This record gives sequence, structure tokens and C-alpha cells, in this order.
Amino acid sequence: MSKPLIAGNWKMNTNSHSSISLAKSIAAGCSESAGQSADVAVFPPFVYLGSVVQVLRSTGISVGAQDLYTEQKGAFTGEISASMLKDTSCVYVLCGHSERRHIIGESDRLVNAKVTAAINGGLLPILCVGEKLQQRQCDKTGEVVNTQLAEGLADLSAEKISGVTIAYEPVWAIGTGLTATPAQAQEVHFLIRQELSKKVGKQSAQQIRILYGGSAKPDNAADLMAEQDIDGLLVGGASLKADDFLRIIKASI
Ligand code: PEP
Repeated sequence: MSKPLIAGNWKMNTNSHSSISLAKSIAAGCSESAGQSADVAVFPPFVYLGSVVQVLRSTGISVGAQDLYTEQKGAFTGEISASMLKDTSCVYVLCGHSERRHIIGESDRLVNAKVTAAINGGLLPILCVGEKLQQRQCDKTGEVVNTQLAEGLADLSAEKISGVTIAYEPVWAIGTGLTATPAQAQEVHFLIRQELSKKVGKQSAQQIRILYGGSAKPDNAADLMAEQDIDGLLVGGASLKADDFLRIIKASI
């Protein structure tokens, strides 16, 4: 298995000053050994990507974007393309985060177009999937996740799918303080791995990182990461405090 990935999604938080100081504190606290044992990435708001990239240059910590648009350039007011993100030295991009699916209204079809645009633009997409509370309560978790996975990866070759990271983020656990138990998360991660195996073969599916996201914290990171199919964490709230984010990284390696 490849190194775990610990990713911090800053969402619509920070400002020009605090984004730089947060990035500096993470870089200062991320020891070389932590950096060697895990891949670390942060996802600032678009407007602070350039300055965070500057701060994190040569630290081994990658920068990613929280979203992208499907087209390369042109009359798409307000949108940002894969080539612009690449030009800003972004490595990763989130696609289909639950806040974009459920607040902004992104469909699986749009998410698929974004994953495709990211890959074609040389970025590493992180495809987010996850069920709402009511869907879990109706035993629909597997169905929802499988559909999001199948539609999000539709029409992509096995080679391209092998370059995608998946993030399982139960919607009911995001920003709520409720975390899936390690066993609940593992159950869905295993299912995702099985679906990926059907698409790319068992061996390649083992190499695809499947992150867990949903109120990951310093005190639950190690237990989540101990599960066989959890290959990293997508951290929201706790990634805004350098100390918590650093403790999560240490607990994960
Ligand atoms: C997220 O935004 O992807 C997330 C998991 O948020 P939180 O850790 O705050 O639940």
C-alpha cells in the first residue's frame, strides 16, 4: 500500500493573513519523518492558493483546490479550470464534496465531468462519496456510495481510475462532531475497494487510496487509520488548527 494521505480541507475559512500563518505553522510542525511516512496536503480557498503554495514550496506538503470547472477556458464567469490550478502548482483537487453536492446542487454527472477534467488536466482528483443520515437509517449506504462511485468514475479507463483517490465522507458525520466508528467506516471502505477491484483489478485497487472524512480529530485518527481499508483522512474543522492537524498526522503514521 502507498503512503497514507492526510488532507486538510479549509473550506470557506481563513483570510490572507491566517491562511499564510496556518500554512507556516503546519510546515514548521510537520517533521521530516512525518513527511516521509505520510503525504500531507492542504486545500485552501481559491484566492489563497498562490500564497499558500509559496509558503509550502520545498516543504513536501502539497496544495490542492476544493473544486474546479469542467472546461479549460472561456466564457465561464466565476469558474476556475484545471489548467489554472495546475499553473498555480496545485497537485490535488476535491471533486463532489458533499457540501457541493447538497448545498450547491452538483449532480453525479457534473462530478464525473470534473473528475475527468482534473485527470486530463494533470491533477489528482479526490472523488468524495457518502450517504446522508436518512439513507444510512434506511440501509441505503451501500447503494448510495456505489452509485456515486459508478457515476463519478463513469467512462474512465482503468488506468485513469487508478490515479483517483476516493474519500468516503458520510454526510451525517461532516462538521457535526459525529464520527463513523472505525468499524462502520471500514465496512464502507471495504465495499468501495471491492467496487474498484471490479473496475481496475484487485491489485490496482489495493493501490488506490480511500480516505475517511467526517469529524476526524486527533483522538480518533489512530483508531480510524488502524482499519485495513482506511488509507488516509480528509479533515475539515480540525485542519484549521495547526496543532490538531499535526496531531492527526502524527496519529496516522
Ligand atoms: C470535510 O469537509 O471534508 C470534513 C470531513 O469536515 P469535518 O472534518 O469538519 O467533518
